[in-house]
Parts: sequence; C-alpha cells; structure tokens
Amino acid sequence: MSVKEEIEILRKELREHNYKYYVLAEPQISDYEFDMKLKALQELEEANPEFFDANSPTQRVGGGVTKNFETVAHAFRMYSLDNSYSKEEVLDWEKRIRKILGDVPLTFTCELKYDGASINLTYKSGELHRAVTRGDGVQGDDVTTNIRTIRSVPLRLNGNCPDIFEARGEIILPLEGFKKMNEERIEAGEDPYMNPRNTAAGSIKLQDSALVAERPLECLVYGLAAVKLPLISQYSMLEEARKWGFKVPVEARECNSVDEVMDFIELWDLKRHELPYETDGVVIKVNDLDQQEELGYTAKAPRWALAYKFQAEEATTKLVEITYQVGRTGAITPVANLEPVLLAGTTVKRASLHNADQIAKLDVRVGDTVFVEKGGEIIPKITKVDLTQRPSGSQQTQYITHCPECHTPLIRNEGEAQHFCPNEMGCPPQITGRIQHFISRKAMDIEGMGSETVVLLFNEGLITNYADLYSLTTAQIEPLERMAEKSAENLVQGVAASKEIPFERVLFALGIRYVGETVAKKLARAYGNIDALMNASFEELIQVDEIGDRIAQSVIQFFADERNREIVERLRSHGLQFSLSADQLANQTDTLKEKTFVVSGVFESISRNELKKLIEDNGGKVSSSISSKTSYVVAGANMGPSKKVKADDLGVPIITESEFLAMLKP
Ligand code: AMP
Ligand code: ZN
Repeated sequence: MSVKEEIEILRKELREHNYKYYVLAEPQISDYEFDMKLKALQELEEANPEFFDANSPTQRVGGGVTKNFETVAHAFRMYSLDNSYSKEEVLDWEKRIRKILGDVPLTFTCELKYDGASINLTYKSGELHRAVTRGDGVQGDDVTTNIRTIRSVPLRLNGNCPDIFEARGEIILPLEGFKKMNEERIEAGEDPYMNPRNTAAGSIKLQDSALVAERPLECLVYGLAAVKLPLISQYSMLEEARKWGFKVPVEARECNSVDEVMDFIELWDLKRHELPYETDGVVIKVNDLDQQEELGYTAKAPRWALAYKFQAEEATTKLVEITYQVGRTGAITPVANLEPVLLAGTTVKRASLHNADQIAKLDVRVGDTVFVEKGGEIIPKITKVDLTQRPSGSQQTQYITHCPECHTPLIRNEGEAQHFCPNEMGCPPQITGRIQHFISRKAMDIEGMGSETVVLLFNEGLITNYADLYSLTTAQIEPLERMAEKSAENLVQGVAASKEIPFERVLFALGIRYVGETVAKKLARAYGNIDALMNASFEELIQVDEIGDRIAQSVIQFFADERNREIVERLRSHGLQFSLSADQLANQTDTLKEKTFVVSGVFESISRNELKKLIEDNGGKVSSSISSKTSYVVAGANMGPSKKVKADDLGVPIITESEFLAMLKP
C-alpha cells in the first residue's frame, strides 16, 4: 500500500468515526482508539507534506489564525424571517400564500428555530469549500478556518450530493457546554458570558482557530441552496442533508394544516426546556419546493417561511435598589434588587445588570418598572424599562465611583467592561473572597472550615490573609461564637493537614487572576517549583502550552507585588508544598491530554487514589460523574451498577485497570 493510500484510508475511517460521534452521538470506537488513529495520520501527514488536505480530520484542532476575515458575496442571498406571535398571524400568512398559489394542496414543515449564528457552508465536489457568516445577507465574512474545527460540520460528504451547493445552518453552543465554559471562567476570576447565542456568534469570529476548536460548538443544518436540487420538499431536503452527513435535528415534522402546525408549536413551547440547546421559536415552511419558488421573497424574507416566536419567559416588576457586589478579584457587579416576581416557576428577587455600560444602555433607574427575562443565563436579566410607568422626577442612575465596601476610587481598564476596586489588600470582600477560594474543595480543601468561618475569623481580626490560617490556635478560636472546642480542634487540624496538598493545587489556591485549575496544573508541570515560576519572564511564560498574554501578564503582576511574595514565603515556612515531588516530576506526561476519566470500583494492582493521580500526572482529568464529556470509565471490581447503565446509555467506553495502564505505555 502506498503512503497516499494509507493516508486516505485513515482519513476515511476517522471521518466515519467523527460522524458517528458528533452527528449521530453513537460512538463505535473508544476515544483512545480514535486518538491513536488520529496520531498515526498526523505523523504520516507531517512526514509527507505533499498530501496536505485542509479537510483532513487532523485539521479539526485548528491552529490557523485569521487577522481580518475576508468579505465574500453569497451566491444565493441569505434572508431573514418574518415573525409571528399568534395563531391569527399564522392563519393570515396562510391566506396570503393561498392568494398566490390558489386552491392547491398545501403542506408545511415545522422546524425548531435554533438560536445561534447563521452560517452558509459551500460544498464543491462533496468537500467543504467555504464557510461564510450571514453578514447583511448579500455578503458575509469568510470564517472557514474556524468552522472547520466544529466537529459536526462535515468536511467531506457521503452519497449523492450536488456538485456545488450551499448548506445553511446555525452555529450554536449547547447549554451544557455553555454552563461549563462559564464555570471555568468564574473559577478563573473572569466575568461569565452573557448567553449562548452571543458566545456562539463571538466564537466564530475569534482570530485563533485553536481557541474555536476548544469550544463545544455545533452546527445544526436547516436548509440547502443550489441552482437545481434533486428534491421535491423541504422535509425531504432535511432527510437528504442528514444522509450526506449533516447534523439535522430530528424534531422537524410535516404538517397538513395550520391546526397541526399549532400543535407542534404548543408541544415545543412546553418541551423546549428539555432540549440540549436554546430555541426561541418554530420556523414554519411551505413544504413543496416548487411552491416555495412560486412564492418567492420579499425584500427581506421568504414568503414561503414564517418564524413563530415563543413568548420569552418574561415578567414585569419594580426595581427597588441597585447594589454593587465586590468579587474576590475586586470586580464590581451591579445587581438589581427587585420586588419579588414569579418567573418561569421561580420567585425572582435579583437580576444582573452586568456593568456600567449595560445600565447606561437600558437607562434603568430606581423606581422603574422593568422587564425581567430568563434565558440560558445563570441569573435573570433586565431587558428593558417600561417608560410609561416611570415616576416623575426620576433620576438617571449614577454608577458608583468608589468601592461600596472600602471606599477606594474604582478603576476601569481599557477594553474591559467591569469596574475594579484596586484595594486588593484592604478591601474586605476581596480579602475574605481570596481566603474562601484558598480553602475551597478544589484548592486546599481545608476540612472543618466554611465560608462563614472565614468571615467570622476575619471580623474577629484573627486573619487578614490566607497565610494567617497557619498560625491559628485552638485557644484563639474556641472563645468565638458557635465555635465549640471540637470544631476549633477540627479547624486547626484541617489547616495542618492541608500542608500535604500538592503544589499545583497550592498554586491554584493562591488565587492569581486567570489562573484556574487547569492553568495551575500546566504551570506547575512546566516550572516544577514556585521559585522557577516567580522568576519566569513574560516571554518564557507565553511559551507554555495554553498560556496566553493575559495569563502571563497576570502571573508577572502577582509575583511583582512584594506583599504576595511575602505571603508565599510565610506559607513556605509553614511547610506547604511549593514544588512537585521528585517522583511526580519523573512520572509526568501529556499522554492523556484532553481526556476525562471517571473511576469506579475496586482495583487490584493500585489504589483508587493512585489511579486518579496517575491520570492527572499524565495530563488527564478526573471527574466524579459520567457525562457525554467523559472519555472513559475505568472500572474495577464492584463498579456501581447505575454508573454502568449511564456509561452504556451515553456510549462512554468502560475499560479495565489493565487497559488503562496499557494506555500509559509508550
Ligand atoms: P432572524 O435573524 O430573526 O431574521 O431569523 C432568521 C434566522 O433564523 C436565519 O438566518 C437562521 O440563521 C435562523 N434559523 C434558526 N433556525 C432556523 C430554521 N430551522 N430554519 C430557518 N432559519 C433558521
Ligand atoms: Zn474595595
């Protein structure tokens, strides 16, 4: 077999497995086997650059950087959709159609309206040729490099597709992935993203495609455009597109009347919260493609389609007060305190106002009647003000200029939306926030101590930074309210026990801005000890995998502060781990990079904890519950039966102890 053939076979296999995993969600081989094949292909391609192919499965990881997206004209215009909000409006639409078509049989296809960013994918000879954003409908931005990294976008199609055509779809961020991205951001002291739609739209315009590759984006296809399609209906178009390899949601239905259309709408208005992604309505399309052609387009939208928008889960209430929260990094978040109101089944008393710009944009004022909405966000948001209800003499909201907790003048860095209190060392919520982060489960995991204890100890003047924890004595703690002898002892013991926590977690616990759990691990592994890290230059830091300018800058800034260095020295003198242990250093690899494991049951040759450590030392992640993100379940004897069912359901491969250990062999 020639090298070329070998490459082609691997590409074909990988394409099929990718399709089974990301489009059908029915993986047939383990992630490990997939990675082995991918690695083999990568090596062959590297050694034989003449066979480079931009649509090879190896290109999914991204790497290409686009400084300016080229503007490209669409071959077929991308239209917007007319909206409707009631059955009457749908009936009116049907009437308008009937007027044009006359008395002929009329059926519809109903699809969900996916809430993301539209994309136009051009295929030539079955290969992805170009991906362009909707833009103004006539022309958009060429974002091909980024779109190639989205696993559910087929790079090469199966079956009998036209030689040149376009697939129209929506790039979305499923809710679970969005939630996880936000958890990671919050953990790293960054502002959470506002909603999945904006984040999806922002993602496809990132300059670095490797960053896009890391985001759990998906592409849902809802239509095709070509000079001539060998198809008769919208519904068969969806079925055909699915056969060619596109991800086409299965919820779509053919309907014979407006009544059936309304049933579909009612059903999904109720069930939409069970979907893994956000939808803001239903798109009703005339089914017959000849009829579509006859109906044509208005200046803005097809006459043959109509969007039906679900009522946003919205309520109105009164804004009582705007308060300002100070986070552990000093970031100020304005919070709207509301008269309690029922919204989507829960009582809402507070809503996020995000930042000063948002307040100015809404021109929201105390005493206003406001609309509150719940979308994919973590807490509800205010969408607009009911100006007809504004009390006379109302005053425009003045954003605070000083920290509400320590009265230091606030600063706002260029390009950042958030105001900050710069008084890191003297601002109470920043001090307690940092200590709370330090003791938290994923950091130093100090037993016998909770968030309230931190506030109590701080208020009593016993601690002003986390190094102070290590000098606490039971005699100091016992007299405090609610601190019996036993819990004082537990606390001191818990603090002492934390001295064994490994370096990477100590590094995470320090609470350096943007240094989350994963970054801390990377840095710990790259530098081995705190001294090397403290002395690293900006240029050195950005050489480390996944460390960008912003993180590097933040690390430099943290250690440039004499006060931080002093605290580190005190922690060191108390015996905390500031370097990787010798065997940790000797045994670290990247073999399990980007893989997540769940460990269950009892093992023969090693203990559970040793197994977990092995995973982490080799660059893998350990998680406690099985999800679609789990790469493998490592099962010992007596694995939990519910875990087995869940793994089988999700198609997560279950491997044995020896299979796992074999993965680590070079
Ligand atoms: P709008 O932006 O509100 O005018 O709505 C039009 C957009 O809805 C299109 O550009 C598509 O990106 C998007 N859309 C989402 N789901 C569908 C669907 N099932 N059919 C057609 N368009 C859809
Ligand atoms: Zn402050």
